[in-house]
Amino acid sequence: MTELEWTGPWHRRLGAAELMVLTDRTYHLDGGAFFGVVPKPLWNRHAPADEQNRVRAGLNSLIVRLNGALIVIETGCGNKLNEKQMRNGGVDPRRDYLKRMAAAGIDPGRVDVVINTHLHYDHCGWNTLRHPETGAITAAFPQARYYVQRREWEHAREQHERDRVSYLPENYDPLVRSGQMTLLEGGRELLPGITVECWPGHTRGLQGVLIRSQGQTACYVSDLMPTHWHLKPSWVMGFDLYPLESIDNKHRVLERAAREHWLMVFTHDPEHVWGYVERHGASGEYLFTPAST
Ligand SMILES: [Zn+2]
Repeated sequence: MTELEWTGPWHRRLGAAELMVLTDRTYHLDGGAFFGVVPKPLWNRHAPADEQNRVRAGLNSLIVRLNGALIVIETGCGNKLNEKQMRNGGVDPRRDYLKRMAAAGIDPGRVDVVINTHLHYDHCGWNTLRHPETGAITAAFPQARYYVQRREWEHAREQHERDRVSYLPENYDPLVRSGQMTLLEGGRELLPGITVECWPGHTRGLQGVLIRSQGQTACYVSDLMPTHWHLKPSWVMGFDLYPLESIDNKHRVLERAAREHWLMVFTHDPEHVWGYVERHGASGEYLFTPAST
């Protein structure tokens, strides 16, 4: 798939649910940070690095229609980054996610629920909009209830030197202040068929999302496994605050995903937005099969 085609939307049905992946285009991540302790010759075969050691990554959000509700999972980088952040992050300057969402038939005013798996700027950027003249921050999805884990928000508020660069308070604090964002105290079914589960590792408050309909399950796995390359349990990102917990949670999630034939949806995959995993009998490795788009 060429860069130009990398915007989606891609559609699939899951039982009675309609799924759509719409990207906030792509950005760059440092290859070392993206693949952690995995030696470069191994990851570079899959994800070729540029002269600055950066690899291209997707910003894939998942939009779900189920039982009359409209749900947006993850909202990309948004348009509040300054020029330096845009340049360093290799963020595509065409900030047109909401326009393409409208072109795909989704009215932001009709979105019922927005779920952020965590609050890094590349996961909640379009939660809010900054007025170009007044600087006022407003909700991009004015009627929606937003959900994130309280633990994640508390860590974001700490502005710890390890990762404060990843947190942009304008993406969430105004929503918490206005009461539009609910701070969850653990896993929960948010709507019939839409459940969040806590899978700490990347951050303490990371949550994944399960979508269930008519016996089928899709999993928005978020930064527990940002791409299909990260299906190997030991391929953990350097960004992860608790890498050993990431490995444990990957084993748990992969085992269920293979057994129950989950459709895995990847946040940062620049090649395959979704697919299935299967456990290889002899090696115990998890093999990936892309789903058609
Ligand atoms: Zn991420």
